[in-house]
Amino acid sequence: MRVVFLGAPGVGKGTQAERVADQFGVAKISTGDLLRDAVRNQTPLGREAKNYMDQGKLVPDAVVIGLVNEKLSGQSCENGFILDGFPRTVPQAEELGKALKVNGSGLDRVINFQVSREDVVRRLSGRRSCPKCQSTFHVDFAKSKVEGVCDRCSESLVQRSDDRREAIEMRLQVYDEQTSPLVRYYEERKLLTIVDASGAVDAVFERLSQVLSPYCAQ
Ligand code: AMP
Repeated sequence: MRVVFLGAPGVGKGTQAERVADQFGVAKISTGDLLRDAVRNQTPLGREAKNYMDQGKLVPDAVVIGLVNEKLSGQSCENGFILDGFPRTVPQAEELGKALKVNGSGLDRVINFQVSREDVVRRLSGRRSCPKCQSTFHVDFAKSKVEGVCDRCSESLVQRSDDRREAIEMRLQVYDEQTSPLVRYYEERKLLTIVDASGAVDAVFERLSQVLSPYCAQ
C-alpha cells in the first residue's frame, strides 16, 4: 500500500493515518510529526523549520523532501506507507514521483479528505495534543478521560502554536494557494479518490477502509 493523504489542515488526515497504519501494518510518515520532533530536539533542521511552522507557513521544499526521502528508503516502509501531510506543493509531488520511480514503484492512490471549512476551523481550534506521544484530543469531540491530561502517557496536553486562530487562517490560505493544486495534479494522473471526512472518526475510517482494502497485501 503506497498512499498519500491529502486535504486541508484539520480534516483528520493524521488521526486516520494512525488507524490505517495500525490496521494494515504499513508505515505512517507524517511530515508535521517529523518536523515537530526536530523542533523539540532543537536540531539544526528543527531550528530552521520552527519559524515557518509557528506562523502556519510551509517549510521550504528542500528540507521536507530530504526528510521524506530518508524515511521512504528505510526498512519501516517495506510493507508500504501512508504519507500524511506530504506532498503539499507541486514540486514536492514531482520529487516524490521521481523517488518512487527510482525504486520501480509509484503511488497506488491519493485520498482527498473533504470537510466543510467551518468544521475544519472547529476541529483545529479545539484540538489539544500531547507533546510527548503526539496523541491528539478535542475539547468537544474527543475528550481525554481527565481534562487536559493525555490518556496514553499522562503528560499535560497543549494547544499547538499553529492551532491558534491567526495561524489557522494562514494555514488555510497556504492550503488554498499551494496545496489545493495537487487535487488537479493527481486527478489528471487518475490517482485521486475523494473521501467524505465529516462525522465521527469511526465512520470516516469505515469509508476509508473500503477504498484502501484493495491495496492491502494480506
Ligand atoms: P501538519 O501537522 O501536517 O499540519 O503540519 C504542521 C506544519 O508543519 C505545517 O503548517 C508546515 O509548517 C509544516 N509542514 C508539514 N508538512 C509539510 C510539507 N509537506 N511541506 C512544508 N511544510 C510542511
